Amino acid sequence: MNATICFIGAGNMAMSLIGGLLASGYAKDKIIATEPSEAQRRSVTERMGIYCYSDNNEAVARADIVVFAVKPQQLQGVCHEVQASIQAKRPLIISIAAGIRTVDMDRWLGGNNAIVRTMPNTPALIQSGATGLFANAKVKPEQSSQAENILRAAGITVWVKTEEQIDALTALSGSGPAYYFLFMEAMQQAAQDLGLDEKSARLLTLQTAFGAAKMALESTDDLVTLRQKVTSPKGTTEQAILTFEAQNLRQTVKDAMSAAQNRAVELA
Ligand code: NAD
Repeated sequence: MNATICFIGAGNMAMSLIGGLLASGYAKDKIIATEPSEAQRRSVTERMGIYCYSDNNEAVARADIVVFAVKPQQLQGVCHEVQASIQAKRPLIISIAAGIRTVDMDRWLGGNNAIVRTMPNTPALIQSGATGLFANAKVKPEQSSQAENILRAAGITVWVKTEEQIDALTALSGSGPAYYFLFMEAMQQAAQDLGLDEKSARLLTLQTAFGAAKMALESTDDLVTLRQKVTSPKGTTEQAILTFEAQNLRQTVKDAMSAAQNRAVELA
């Protein structure tokens, strides 16, 4: 892929994607960014070796793909600012802004745009993200591949067929890291209450979560089979699992994710 990619807004998420792209061998001179702050522009150039513009329109005029990486509340203003340059150049548009619908973005950009809306999650900052992608009807197959390649620089990618599914995905992978942090927090505290010191309880909690996820990712077994394989009848694990089931953990998880999805719909 030798398209020129322009990141509008070179904050945390853009820097992570740029870092991933450069690590995967993408040419430095094919990546540009924009930033209003001079200090941040200097830092981007020093850290990444790419050119960072202060003028969004000047950068868009040089790009084949424009990644909007500003905060959601800044997106409408930035879209209006670059509308004429986008209409003149017709690049592939990629948005990583949470909760902004493609129809709204398309309208702000003057209409008729190929837009891929993405929902990355926080582990994207360490290239271990899980990103959902949705393409509007104007996106061509080769543009879908381009978008996927860019987001893959931050972890794995999954396409959804309808934009509503982005709200479900937000409730899963978007908010999901916090669910695991909560569960690990509870496990660490319980381990300390059972007599382990804080440092050991933390390390064992984190490595157990990491090991379980890695094992599941590398296995062909489904999650039920994996769980059954480590749950001997009348053993210790079974006692814990029976306690979770008796206290309706599954329903709690379902209710929590429905609440997150409903909130995503309300915010969009
Ligand atoms: P950030 O604040 O680190 O980055 C935004 C950058 O945009 C800043 O550097 C800011 O100076 C710049 N900016 C502001 N106004 C601008 C303008 N007019 N023109 C050009 N640049 C401008 O934010 P972030 O955490 O990188 O988030 C960026 C987007 O990614 C958000 O829309 C957010 O919803 C989405 N996102 C972030 C995460 C995450 O974990 N950080 C996860 C999922 C989605």
